[in-house]
Amino acid sequence: MKKYLKNLPREIKFLIDLAKKVSKETDMPAYLVGGFPRDLILGAKDWDLDITVEGNGIKFAEVLSKRLNSRLIRHERFGTATLILDHRLKVDIATTRKEIYPSCASLPVVSPGSLKEDLFRRDFTINAMAFSLSEGSQKLIDIFGGKDDLAAGKIRVLHDLSFKDDPTRILRAIRFQQRYNFKFEPKTLSLLKEAVKSGFLEKVNPHRMRDELILMFKEKDPSAQIKQLCALGGVSFISDELKPAKATFDLFKSINKEIAWFMQDFPFHKQFEAWLIYFAALLSRLTLTQRKKIARKLGLSKKEEKKIISCHKINQNFIRRLKNKRITPGQIFALLKPLEFEAIILLRSVSRDSVFKKHIADFLKVYNDLRLSISGDDLFRMGVLPGPKYQKILNRVLAARLNGKLSNRQEELALARKLAKNIT
Ligand code: ATP
Repeated sequence: MKKYLKNLPREIKFLIDLAKKVSKETDMPAYLVGGFPRDLILGAKDWDLDITVEGNGIKFAEVLSKRLNSRLIRHERFGTATLILDHRLKVDIATTRKEIYPSCASLPVVSPGSLKEDLFRRDFTINAMAFSLSEGSQKLIDIFGGKDDLAAGKIRVLHDLSFKDDPTRILRAIRFQQRYNFKFEPKTLSLLKEAVKSGFLEKVNPHRMRDELILMFKEKDPSAQIKQLCALGGVSFISDELKPAKATFDLFKSINKEIAWFMQDFPFHKQFEAWLIYFAALLSRLTLTQRKKIARKLGLSKKEEKKIISCHKINQNFIRRLKNKRITPGQIFALLKPLEFEAIILLRSVSRDSVFKKHIADFLKVYNDLRLSISGDDLFRMGVLPGPKYQKILNRVLAARLNGKLSNRQEELALARKLAKNIT
């Protein structure tokens, strides 16, 4: 273990040393498990810690969090806890357990178990290794050959029922295989194909499915992830109507570029959900009703559903208008303002036309930040009765301002007065 730990950042070494001390003092053997040993051996840089404890994980977490003066979130039902250290670091602590799945995709029946049982309940051999945190025995515990599979670049399940027990492992298998450019061990591949064919994915709880899909879309190359998923049986478990074509994958590539452009040109811009842009692109040939159905089926939040619906507003007419050289800033603003940021990035991905791209960039860089110097209060003082008329007047004044026809507050007020008389 020493060899692997040598190059870790100081704060991670400190955390591991502290966990060792807590393990000794509480007399509870503890292990680093899951993605941490895997990524440490691979030399990847993802330092979330996953600790499993023989004894009582929550108690162990309480002692550790006191020493660190950190926030602790307890999940009593699952016997697990999470320490939140700063924005980048998370420590998950659990008690060693065994799991039995009464039926396909059901919640497992969980009971205390040995370390071996805890490692056996995991998804793949590469995720089923442990580093002991006990003094003197800091070696890798590798009962199922995870290290050899890592070296050979293989994704291998621990037993034949793995995908049936928990079909989300089908998506996890693809995710890791694509992320590390690994191969499926032949038996695992045939079990995976069989599981897809048997429709096991359709039995998964929608929220779990949503979480796993989001993780796929958050990988470096979502396009490759979904392509592989399609090659291994398709995405009909999301919806029968979903049939990704070459155009969908081309769109994914274009989205990669647009997201990179957006992040570079607007580094301080408000957060946006990159995964949702890819997901909306996957749904791009579907009707609004079909999209809403999928959003509900996967238990997307209201906010996420709103963004998916916003992406549906992108149609040929919309695109044609933005390609027109003669469209005014006011018209661009009126078209784009109602869209969510995700929809705007998706929109910029659908065409290479330079005029079209410039119009969207102008909206983001200039028009969207422009503010009028008049407000509803000014309209009220003019004697306009509050109501939908306010928005209509202010929109028209803003359009005139964007189009360069007004340059100060006096001119804005004058136009507002005129519009107040003409607009009903
Ligand atoms: P990532 O780098 O994507 O975070 P990870 O391996 O850390 O990968 P987590 O989802 O955080 O992934 O899970 C931590 C560990 O829990 C995994 O390494 C694996 O051992 C186990 N695990 C997670 N999900 C499952 C599952 N569905 N079935 C079995 N074991 C799982």
